[in-house]
Amino acid sequence: MFHVEQWDVLVVGGGHAGVEAAAVAARMGARAALVTMSAASIGTMSCNPAIGGLGKGHLVREIDALDGVMGRAADRAGIQFRLLNRSKGPAVQGPRTQADRKLYRAAVQEIVGQTAGLEIVEGEVARLCFIGERLSGVELVEGIRLFAQRIIITAGTFLNGVIHVGSEKRSGGRVGDQSSQKLASQLRELFPQRGRLKTGTPPRLDGRSIDWGALEMQPGDANPTMLSFLSAGPFVRQIACGVTQTNPKTHEIVTKNLGKSAMYGGNIEGVGPRYCPSIEDKVVRFAGKDHHNVFLEPEGLDDHTIYPNGISTSLPADVQEEYVRSIVGLSGARILQPGYAIEYDFFDPRALRPTLESRILPGLYLAGQINGTTGYEEAAAQGLLAGLNAALSVSDRAPMFPSRAESYIGVMVDDLVSRGVTEPYRMFTSRAEYRLSLRADNADERLTSMGLTIGCVGSVRADVFARKMDALDAARHALEEITLSPTTLEAMGLKSGRDGRRRSAYAALGLSSGDYEAMRQAASDLPELEPEVFAQLWRESMYRPYVERQEQHAARLKNDENVSLHSFSSYQSVPGLSRELALKLDARRPETIAQAMQIEGMTPAAVAVLLGSINRRLKSAGAK
Ligand code: FAD
Repeated sequence: MFHVEQWDVLVVGGGHAGVEAAAVAARMGARAALVTMSAASIGTMSCNPAIGGLGKGHLVREIDALDGVMGRAADRAGIQFRLLNRSKGPAVQGPRTQADRKLYRAAVQEIVGQTAGLEIVEGEVARLCFIGERLSGVELVEGIRLFAQRIIITAGTFLNGVIHVGSEKRSGGRVGDQSSQKLASQLRELFPQRGRLKTGTPPRLDGRSIDWGALEMQPGDANPTMLSFLSAGPFVRQIACGVTQTNPKTHEIVTKNLGKSAMYGGNIEGVGPRYCPSIEDKVVRFAGKDHHNVFLEPEGLDDHTIYPNGISTSLPADVQEEYVRSIVGLSGARILQPGYAIEYDFFDPRALRPTLESRILPGLYLAGQINGTTGYEEAAAQGLLAGLNAALSVSDRAPMFPSRAESYIGVMVDDLVSRGVTEPYRMFTSRAEYRLSLRADNADERLTSMGLTIGCVGSVRADVFARKMDALDAARHALEEITLSPTTLEAMGLKSGRDGRRRSAYAALGLSSGDYEAMRQAASDLPELEPEVFAQLWRESMYRPYVERQEQHAARLKNDENVSLHSFSSYQSVPGLSRELALKLDARRPETIAQAMQIEGMTPAAVAVLLGSINRRLKSAGAK
């Protein structure tokens, strides 16, 4: 008898978005299939061997809070953990790990392999299939049809991908992988609102040809911050990275050869990532700077390949060798694989609902780089959202998308579907108006309950989370019950004791420098706390007054949405506004603050700058 395979959710692509999408759908009980060109490449890091960072680390923690794959895999593969922005407040600190490429891929594949209800199908999807007007499945290049109720496309940089090295160009999804042409042609017909973007990667170096003795070495943190709430510490040996710098000679070589660069020689039409510039971009855009840092990051524990972070390029291979060898420590460096740029199709995310389902084609979801984002973490977070909504919709349940006030995932998806993209979108903490409450450390407190309700969180995490919440609740309650006199507060070294007010021990925590033992010496009735419980309550208490102010500010901002911007003839001279935003505002000429807020890249801080400028104008007009 002819048997037709029918899945609930079928995911096209085994990159970071695809893995999260397929895994979450299966965790929620859907029959899920992940169709990808190469099963052995599932979980491949196309570019830098690192997960997390500023803004991105927040996304990883949120993915983890919903029991996703990325944080757990990153911890298993992590060879150097660093908490970025350590000197700043916890709200903007970003956990990051450098990952052993092979270990990361292996960890992802192991987690995927252990996910019940998730099937891997190897093959290239050539097109979407329909029964009448209804989406019914996909067809592989060999003609095999796979049927599914919901389909999620996560094709990354593969759609019409073109790889550029100098004037040479060839079709490809990334080095070593073919591009996806057939599916791209059909998507171009279905979704006319699309564009081309580009990104680049640096040459890979042979670590044995580097003069490590000439370099400064950067170790990881002594007390590593893990990416997953489930991990207690690193799984494998930790390493140090080398740090070196470009110099005037490097810049001269790059400048002399700019005409040969694919990006500058006019071969690439796509727009590149502003925040991950190539060495060509850096030399042109920051012409006054005579050096840029280059981090020499080992790609693995048993791998000599070094990823020189900071010098991505699309210059010809011989020029790459020349400029690499002009850098201290790299005079004898051998290039194992030249750097290259890649250009690919993306589709306007404004055609998507906040669940990442297409408005044009119900049942189809798009997630990851295909929506104009850049980065593993951004892709994974979208995959998770699309996957869980596809699973919810199969069982006729209400959609779930955390708001901007609840998560960075909400910030990103709202930015994408309401503002669209004109350049690769990456996450920053400045994009979130509620960033004081959206911290990496409390992602589980914000999202895991939601995940438990919809059924995407497994029993192991559910137990860990319940124990943690019980411990926090009990400690918070105990500290709120204890009132400290101004004398005790002063004895604790808290200046605020001088205002003569009594305060709860919980409020006092946030005013302290974080030395709980010193506080207990001044007030012996303070309970003993586990270090992690104390650290969490300390951060929470420290931010509480700011969070309250932030909420008031958000309410005020809502009132200011109708404020007119007609008094600005140009935005170039508005103090505190970035050049990037001034140019966009000049081009779009929004009528009101609400319209300005729809501009891609507009941050809450920039809105505050505009409002401040309007107030100053009104005041000076009133004074005349
Ligand atoms: P990908 O990881 O690209 O995965 C796509 C998956 O889809 C692959 O498994 C592929 O096999 C599969 N696929 C595609 N088409 C089909 C089909 N028709 N049928 C079946 N399977 C299909 N990010 C940064 O943040 N900073 C950088 O500097 C940076 N530089 C980059 C440089 C290069 C050269 C490349 C290639 C990428 C770079 N990235 C960078 C981007 C980063 O790799 C992506 O953001 C991330 O991998 C996107 O994840 P994804 O899941 O959307 O897609």
